[in-house]
Amino acid sequence: MSPTESEKYSRQEGLVHQPRVEKLRIGLKGTNPLLEEQLILISKHLGVKEFPVTNDMDMEIVIDSNKKNEKKSLYINMKETGFNLSTEFNTAEISKTLALLAPGLSTLAAAMAWQEILKRQNCIRSIPIMKKYATVQFRVNTQFTNISEDDLAGVQAFHGDQRLALFSEPCNDGTGHVRLTARLDLESPALSEILKSVDLKIDESCVVEEPYSFEFTIPHVEKLPEGNLVVAGVGGLGTWSLYTLFRGVLNAGGAGQGLNVTIFDPDESIEIHNLNRQVLYNETHVDRPKADCAAEILASNLPDLNVGFGVQALGLPELDYLLTHVESEIKSDEDDVDLLEELELTENNSLSTDEVKNILKEADLILCGVDNLNARGVLSGISSHLKIPFINAGAENFSGQFDVLQESGCMACRYGADSVRDKRITSCQEDGDVPVASIVTTTAIFGALEGLSALTALSEMSVLNQWPTQAIWGGRSNRLQSLQPPHFMQGNDHVEHILQALGDLNSNLVKVDMNTPLQSDNRNGAVKKESKHQ
Ligand SMILES: [Zn+2]
Repeated sequence: MSPTESEKYSRQEGLVHQPRVEKLRIGLKGTNPLLEEQLILISKHLGVKEFPVTNDMDMEIVIDSNKKNEKKSLYINMKETGFNLSTEFNTAEISKTLALLAPGLSTLAAAMAWQEILKRQNCIRSIPIMKKYATVQFRVNTQFTNISEDDLAGVQAFHGDQRLALFSEPCNDGTGHVRLTARLDLESPALSEILKSVDLKIDESCVVEEPYSFEFTIPHVEKLPEGNLVVAGVGGLGTWSLYTLFRGVLNAGGAGQGLNVTIFDPDESIEIHNLNRQVLYNETHVDRPKADCAAEILASNLPDLNVGFGVQALGLPELDYLLTHVESEIKSDEDDVDLLEELELTENNSLSTDEVKNILKEADLILCGVDNLNARGVLSGISSHLKIPFINAGAENFSGQFDVLQESGCMACRYGADSVRDKRITSCQEDGDVPVASIVTTTAIFGALEGLSALTALSEMSVLNQWPTQAIWGGRSNRLQSLQPPHFMQGNDHVEHILQALGDLNSNLVKVDMNTPLQSDNRNGAVKKESKHQ
């Protein structure tokens, strides 16, 4: 495998035994083109070398069958608004899936099917490894020299010209020696080879054998989606959401008429290791901004869609602006058509404050796929202020949760005020505060849920009430469960809840100069681009 190719899967290697995943031999029986396509897509994201295979099978996936299969099997029966997934043959009804929902439901079914295969074929690590480091340790003697604690604090470690992170601790063995640990940078191929060859092992003889059966259904909607969608974050979750959305529209014969989508994401460059679970992107998008690429892909798939983007975050400045600039204008339907026609991106590929404000004021729904709780909280505050639904998901490792928030709640109501203060970036990126591993099954499941619920809301807003308000999934049980979420806050003023949570009861929560670009750390001098509204 080439270095690039193996880097693609690097973020999932702490969760699965990658060599076992690559060698999986899974067969396929029955036909359902959309479901087959999704099963193949997810097998590629996982790194399975060959799928489907026709001999020496570990297991066989059996699609829409009313006959018991002889081999060790996983049965998938698609239904009108859901599917049934089971290791046991059953006579569950099989029916044609609604066109709008079929791509998203196929993604969900395929991701959960692969998860079940990973479980049953003993591919899942008992100990999830969030990050692997290589270190060099120096044992130094401080006793018979003149080295003081202060001197020690001034010691630096280098690898060539590169300064390494260095930690010191006493050896505590009566010698007075001190252990200095230098953490090596992982860029070098030699080092990554060493890291690959060192692994954690535990007795993993408990292969999952018990029968599994899961049934999933969502409310019925058929009408093509219309209205104004704001998407915050197009990483793993956001890309699968948008994929579910545009594939659904296409499958139902639409081209995006009457639909406006604005995508926000401050991430300026797609990296190779994003490609194995951020479904919209491929090698040609590497090093380009995520929001720009996602908008381009949507526009090329749905020619009648209005799509805009900003390489910027949505957050506190926007909430502050909405709260402190009271305007008498009333949202009017006539404006919708022109909403995205006039967008002018700055040099930094970001939209101006006024444009963002107008987009938010016209929005019908905010779909959230950002990487920290604080931003989710603020975005839910914006939704509450605008009185529009907020669709959220969070995913890491083999677990995640999904939220639909409407008038009755905000992120502070659901997760407590502390969560809204949590600014740590949970990211698979090296610069994340909390390193996490991530895998396509998790992001596909939660992205598809977000996409399907967004399709529902934009198709028939009232039907969103029939969705669960919260759902969780864990990769070991491989079951989606809807929950009656807790309610932490008093009263119904959710904007106030968010402000309270942020520690400032007055709405003048931050002083932000709204004339400066929102994304100030955007320094790569990107070329001015035309907004996309094909
Ligand atoms: Zn609230």
